[in-house]
Amino acid sequence: MSRPSSWSIARHRPEGPLTGYKIAYPMISADSRRGGFNGVALGRSQVYGAVADAVCIQSPRHRCPSSWCDCGFYCFHARDDARDLACDPQYQHCVLLEIAASGRFVRYELGLRYARQTIRSVQLGRCGCGRAATALADGGPGIVGWRRLHPVCGLCAGPRPVLTPEAFGVLLGHVPVQAEDTTEDGLAPLAGVGGEVDEATLVPLLSAEVALLQARLDQVQSRLEQLTHRSD
Ligand SMILES: [Zn+2]
Ligand SMILES: [Zn+2]
Repeated sequence: MSRPSSWSIARHRPEGPLTGYKIAYPMISADSRRGGFNGVALGRSQVYGAVADAVCIQSPRHRCPSSWCDCGFYCFHARDDARDLACDPQYQHCVLLEIAASGRFVRYELGLRYARQTIRSVQLGRCGCGRAATALADGGPGIVGWRRLHPVCGLCAGPRPVLTPEAFGVLLGHVPVQAEDTTEDGLAPLAGVGGEVDEATLVPLLSAEVALLQARLDQVQSRLEQLTHRSD
């Protein structure tokens, strides 16, 4: 996987919340009273709610996001980048979140790494069959205290109990949860499902979120070089 060379990094203190987009696995607490989300890359052992502060699992001694660590929440600036990543088969059962990022943050070309997150809205995306998902059903592996939910259409849900988008929104503390608008392409086949996979399309999708982490490595590398020169 090639590393993007044009990534610029600058640390900022925000003037106000910044809008971002990301994908995550929807979760429900074991007692079915709370909703939350599980990240797709870092922090897979944690579930966050509608408002959350990033926690570093490497060290409790620094504040997130630390320059010397990969901790913090991640998001893309552009909704399309997050939605592209959701096409990756391993993220098939994710939903799309629109968030407001606040607190300390690091800006990258494609997104942010940041301290505090408020979820503004949730979009369910598609069922595994390609239809627009209209509800959430139990599915996939959970973590201690939390079960994972899958976005499903009415046909695939069958007789299983489901949570409506509205009910899930209430469990999140009254966050808007919507089905994807697929009026234009509701029956279009998903890329990579039952057909040829377009490598030229897929590779950038696979690398998008990983590229955020690669940018961190670039930053550490340049710091190391600075330190090396300073000691010459
Ligand atoms: Zn950290
Ligand atoms: Zn379905």
